[in-house]
Amino acid sequence: MVLAEVKGVQAGPGEKAFGFLEVGTTSVSTYSIPVAVLNGAEPGKTLGVIGGTHGVEFASIEAVIRAIQDLDPMEMKGRLLAIPVLNGPQFEHRSAFLSPFDQLNQNRVFPGDPNGTLSHRAAYVVFSEVVSQCDALVDCHGGDITEDIDDMVLAGKGDDEEVNKVAVDMASCFPTKYITLFPVQESGLSMSAQKRYGIPCVTSEAGTPHNVRERHVEFHYEGIMNVLKYFGIIEGEPEMVEPVVAPKRYRYNAEQGGIWHSYVELGQEVKAGEELGNVTDLFGRELEAFTAPEDSTVSFLRVFYSVNCGEPLVGLVVLD
Ligand SMILES: [Zn+2]
Repeated sequence: MVLAEVKGVQAGPGEKAFGFLEVGTTSVSTYSIPVAVLNGAEPGKTLGVIGGTHGVEFASIEAVIRAIQDLDPMEMKGRLLAIPVLNGPQFEHRSAFLSPFDQLNQNRVFPGDPNGTLSHRAAYVVFSEVVSQCDALVDCHGGDITEDIDDMVLAGKGDDEEVNKVAVDMASCFPTKYITLFPVQESGLSMSAQKRYGIPCVTSEAGTPHNVRERHVEFHYEGIMNVLKYFGIIEGEPEMVEPVVAPKRYRYNAEQGGIWHSYVELGQEVKAGEELGNVTDLFGRELEAFTAPEDSTVSFLRVFYSVNCGEPLVGLVVLD
């Protein structure tokens, strides 16, 4: 088995190497992306795992860091190329959704551009140096600054049925109740790698920055480990679930800005007609109230006091 390398970060057979991929410079600093190269003692598949594409989705970051720490390349057949935090600028600055450098959403600019602004360059470096080497890609996400999201996985859906099936299998490696089939495009999300490189892609979603919940970290972590087993990179049978595919979902956005009051918890089962929350104005007058249209589970919740029109408040999924 030969050396595994990502742009100068090299690991021999059975070795683990850490380094940084340079993206570009600002007037005072260099923006670079941390990468871990875990090179198995024997040959096999290469899995790419990304955390922190959105830099405040901390449960995803914690899970990738734990996987990097726990895995022993001497016991691996194949490789793991792992990025614990793709979006360092958002991570450092605690900015919501967008990079503080160029006000772009990192997960809308793949495959990137080597001549673009920093988010474009970051996407380009990740695709050209890491994802291009991979047989499959897992991108771990969760709630951003205003959000709390419960366990679900997006599986890429493109033209190749074989690849689509593997993506659904990968999604089923996470302990999820349901998965959503996501039509992959030429550009935009990291899942566009399914179209560009013909590799199966999934995006796992679980977590909130306030506070990081252990069960959300474990959701991503167990998924990563099971996907590694699924591809034979580590020993053992993957524990796969049989999730509901593309269940009915509801998402409610604020029609008017104001103050959001939630009456429910993430993961709570609600009955048809049950009150979910309301939006009031700055004098306390109710502007809007939301109720569950049918028996369902709270899968998304706004965890931020203020809200502007058009922003999401609560999401439901019907699992029966
Ligand atoms: Zn995200």
